[in-house]
Amino acid sequence: MSARVGVVGGGILGTVLALRLAQAGAEVTVLERAPSPGGLAGSMDFGGHRIDRFYHAITPADRHLIGLAAELGLAGELRFSTVGAGFFVDGKLHPFDGPRDLLRFRPLSPLGRARLAWFFALCQLRQSYDGLDEVPLEWWLRRHCGSEVTDRIWRPLLDSRFDGRHTELPATYMWARTRRMSGARRGASRREQLGHLRGGHERLIAAAAERAAEQGADFRLGAAVEELAMKDGQVEGVRVGGQTVPFDLTIATLQPPALRFLLPARLEGLLGAYPDRHLGLVCAVLKVRRSLVPFYVVNICEPTPITTVVETSHVVGTEHTAGLRLVYLPHYCAPDSPEQDEDDDSILTRFEGMLARISPAYRPEDVVDRTVQRARVAEPVHALGAHPRVAPVWPGVPGLALASASQVYPHLLNGDSVVHFAETVAAQAISRLGLGAVPPGRTSPGC
Ligand SMILES: Cc1cc2nc3c(=O)[nH]c(=O)nc-3n(C[C@H](O)[C@H](O)[C@H](O)COP(=O)(O)OP(=O)(O)OC[C@H]3O[C@@H](n4cnc5c(N)ncnc54)[C@H](O)[C@@H]3O)c2cc1C
Repeated sequence: MSARVGVVGGGILGTVLALRLAQAGAEVTVLERAPSPGGLAGSMDFGGHRIDRFYHAITPADRHLIGLAAELGLAGELRFSTVGAGFFVDGKLHPFDGPRDLLRFRPLSPLGRARLAWFFALCQLRQSYDGLDEVPLEWWLRRHCGSEVTDRIWRPLLDSRFDGRHTELPATYMWARTRRMSGARRGASRREQLGHLRGGHERLIAAAAERAAEQGADFRLGAAVEELAMKDGQVEGVRVGGQTVPFDLTIATLQPPALRFLLPARLEGLLGAYPDRHLGLVCAVLKVRRSLVPFYVVNICEPTPITTVVETSHVVGTEHTAGLRLVYLPHYCAPDSPEQDEDDDSILTRFEGMLARISPAYRPEDVVDRTVQRARVAEPVHALGAHPRVAPVWPGVPGLALASASQVYPHLLNGDSVVHFAETVAAQAISRLGLGAVPPGRTSPGC
């Protein structure tokens, strides 16, 4: 009999794990609480149009995600566009798209611009984050960019991205972030290119789930796992609907704030290896008659109730929304922050109030539809001096693997890094279970 593997969670991570394990001959069952796979990268009906619940783009450097799309026959469905970013500083929008805009970037003095250019080059030249994990981010920014750039640009951006608290961040965060965005810059002009898969990331997840199902994987939707089932010190499966579903190996893909509810008391100590802090978000989504900002993303360098403005239509087009444009206004906040329970109307009033300051084109009467999406847990905050830096996938409990987005490090959390992590964990599981060879082109065990 082949190994029975239970995967808890059917987001990108769980679905790619299921695909690779099923391809290697495991008998895989995915247990997903929601009625469809997708998780944070899922879609929703928005007034008759199917759209991403949260904004999702792909960079040309996202080789794991692009490789998976090609393997699943979706290469022709990837579309890239040249897009720009903007900065909102001192009540004005400034373009910031490549070296030419940096030279003309008025919010900074010529010295500030030169220091910022030097900082971007430094992050590119530094191939490894060795040593950066122990360096406080703000100290590092001041050292390389100076006080003007740090106080006018970086601090306000970090304030809104980390809900007003970022002193615990290591320099690694900005190194990884700068390198990811550099991966989006192409050609002599170094302008930013972003892409999407027609139909969104969810299409990739659906295709991976379909391929896994062809290999025998069973996707149980609407199956909320209640607890890990234990016997004689080992995990023997999961409890769903009051029944035990037995597995030889259970892989939980949930981040700690959700995982903690599944752990029997004797395994709660495993949570100590994870970051203490996680961020969720509250995100207003607007469907509007006209473009509100000429950029994909606007970075806001002043006190703000929203982290950023993302007009995804610059990348995803408007064919699927009958010519109407999509604008996302996210606010990252703690899983238990009051905004998570605040009523939609008051969120929309506050968030659209900020949008009106940023976009002269904004008119409430042009908003055809609006909604508020929430995720209590979106990402971990990896802090300075954390040991271990990432929690082990194999925690030393027979029958259990813990593989969640909280263990993706130092790369930023995105579809590409999650696909890579899933494939690495799958390769390890295949080897431990003594299954067939690692599927061709896939990462070998040992992360
Ligand atoms: C606002 C935002 C913008 C983003 N932008 C981008 C982007 O531009 N590009 C990009 O590539 N990535 C982006 N990402 C990141 C990307 O969405 C995530 O990294 C990825 O979706 C994480 O997938 P996951 O499978 O690890 O987790 P999740 O998607 O959270 O999946 C976990 C799954 O577990 C299920 N679950 C929870 N509890 C249980 C239970 N008890 N039993 C059974 N199932 C359960 C949930 O329903 C969920 O489906 C963005 C994320 C956010 C929030």
